Amino acid sequence: MPRSPSHHARSWYADTANDSTRRPALAGDLDCDVCIVGAGYTGLIAAIHLAERGLDVVVLEAERAGWGASGRNGGQIVTGFNKPFGTLKSWVGEADARRLWDMSEEAKDILAGLVDRFAIDCDLRWGYVLAAFKQRQMAELREWRDELNGLGYDKVRLLDRDALRDEVATDAYVGGVIDEGSGQLHPLNYALGLARAAESLGVRIFEESRVTAVDTGPAPWARTAGGTVRSKFLILAGNAYLGGLVPGIDRTIMPVATYIIGTEPLGENRAKGLIPRGHAVADVNFVLNYYRRSPDNRLLFGGGVSYSGLDRPGLKRSLQRTMLGIFPDLADARIDYMWGGNVAITMNRTPHLGRLSPTTYFAHGYSGHGVALTAVCGRLLAEAVAGQAERFDVFARIPHAPFPGGSLLRTPALVLAMMWFRLRDLL
Ligand SMILES: Cc1cc2nc3c(=O)[nH]c(=O)nc-3n(C[C@H](O)[C@H](O)[C@H](O)COP(=O)(O)OP(=O)(O)OC[C@H]3O[C@@H](n4cnc5c(N)ncnc54)[C@H](O)[C@@H]3O)c2cc1C
Repeated sequence: MPRSPSHHARSWYADTANDSTRRPALAGDLDCDVCIVGAGYTGLIAAIHLAERGLDVVVLEAERAGWGASGRNGGQIVTGFNKPFGTLKSWVGEADARRLWDMSEEAKDILAGLVDRFAIDCDLRWGYVLAAFKQRQMAELREWRDELNGLGYDKVRLLDRDALRDEVATDAYVGGVIDEGSGQLHPLNYALGLARAAESLGVRIFEESRVTAVDTGPAPWARTAGGTVRSKFLILAGNAYLGGLVPGIDRTIMPVATYIIGTEPLGENRAKGLIPRGHAVADVNFVLNYYRRSPDNRLLFGGGVSYSGLDRPGLKRSLQRTMLGIFPDLADARIDYMWGGNVAITMNRTPHLGRLSPTTYFAHGYSGHGVALTAVCGRLLAEAVAGQAERFDVFARIPHAPFPGGSLLRTPALVLAMMWFRLRDLL
């Protein structure tokens, strides 16, 4: 996958991007109220909410707006968190767990509201199928449905094998659920639309402006090769790509590479034959497969992961084999695309929000739920900077442990843990 500072990673998304705006690099020094590092969903949505509060915001992006996970992901807008409500409750108590759940629902409303308000053309649509390979997984889905019903969420319906087959034409699954409140979008066009929206509110975005040093003290600043931005507040929104810019901030997240392949256009009938109603689909393995039909009738199929941070040889073939396990009739379909990106996971698979100092905030580690959750976390960052941190602090109270072994040993430890989960999926 090419990694050029001036281009998005080659993908079906980049080839169907509806905005080619290039923004200048920072040249010279600036002052502003809030400086944000990273122009993915987190940084851009925080910027929008801050600008709406009348603050002067500068966003510094190392590559291009939407270059990171936000421009490459599976586009799946998923209900709730990666963990059951009961687990959240055991961490933060019932009242805060309830607030977290409500905020995860608010996330979808914010996303839909942004798309609507700023007329972001990103193929947003609702409807999502979670499919089970085994009866054990069906039992988990039933529990999940019951738990959501208990929270007053009634958009999830169980599907038996035949009903699932009406949604996804395969014999691979024993059943599943349909969630009318989850959905999908074109991730890069959503990010590019957010960037335009932010600019329409006066936010200044600089591309090809990698921040190489920051001061998180009482008068924070962020430095790039071209200049320094001095601000009252600093927001670190570099997620899996931030690296070691600020020592320690990366201890609670692990960048994991995940990949998507795109078939050739299959023609309307054939593509509709696979997923008749066009819902986004995922299965419930620990290392899940996620896929959907594109508007030009390709199958976009994601799933492979690499915990070592390196592209595994043969990954494209291995993803293709997984896809054929679900849709054997696609054996003759050419694979036109493969791309990958880094998703940031935390040990407990919930986002990590916090402060490094009274002037510096961060949000990262959405663990594969970031398309939706970044919407509310961006808003919470803005609230916190504006002095209303109550809701931010509900998130910040989720306990996060550093990955064992620090930056040197966490990869082998994680590889071992993941091998165990894969084995569990196979069994
Ligand atoms: C292949 C893939 C599939 C995924 N599928 C899904 C999915 O279907 N559903 C879902 O909910 N989530 C999914 N995710 C996760 C989701 O994309 C992320 O949670 C979300 O995009 C995070 O947004 P972000 O703004 O926090 O980070 P990013 O979008 O990664 O943005 C961070 C930005 O910060 C910039 N940056 C980093 N360091 C610096 C620096 N020093 N100076 C300046 N800029 C810097 C980077 O260049 C980058 O543009 C997927 C991720 C990947 C990679």
